Amino acid sequence: MNAEERAERQYVIDRDGECVLVKRDPDHVCRRLGFPHRSSTKRFLTVEHVKDQPMMGKRAPSNRWHMVAMCWDGNVAVQSKVVREWIREYIRRVEPRTTSSSE
Ligand SMILES: [Zn+2]
Repeated sequence: MNAEERAERQYVIDRDGECVLVKRDPDHVCRRLGFPHRSSTKRFLTVEHVKDQPMMGKRAPSNRWHMVAMCWDGNVAVQSKVVREWIREYIRRVEPRTTSSSE
């Protein structure tokens, strides 16, 4: 991971401030290796990559338009199509695209 990617990950965790699964479902419990923790404990959060299109072959780029903060167990779990669609919508809302945003 290069410095730019590390900075971008930190930006995403600061932007979201908590696991995004909590924003969607207030009953969601964040866990790391099975142990519950507060959704806003940033040092436990990871970033989840989200592709623009579900079927797009390559991995999503490591930038703010393709990443959200998520707890470790949420990241490891396979999120449903509905949840992934919600995450895409969330990113569009909090991180509007500019002409320079396309990879
Ligand atoms: Zn979580």
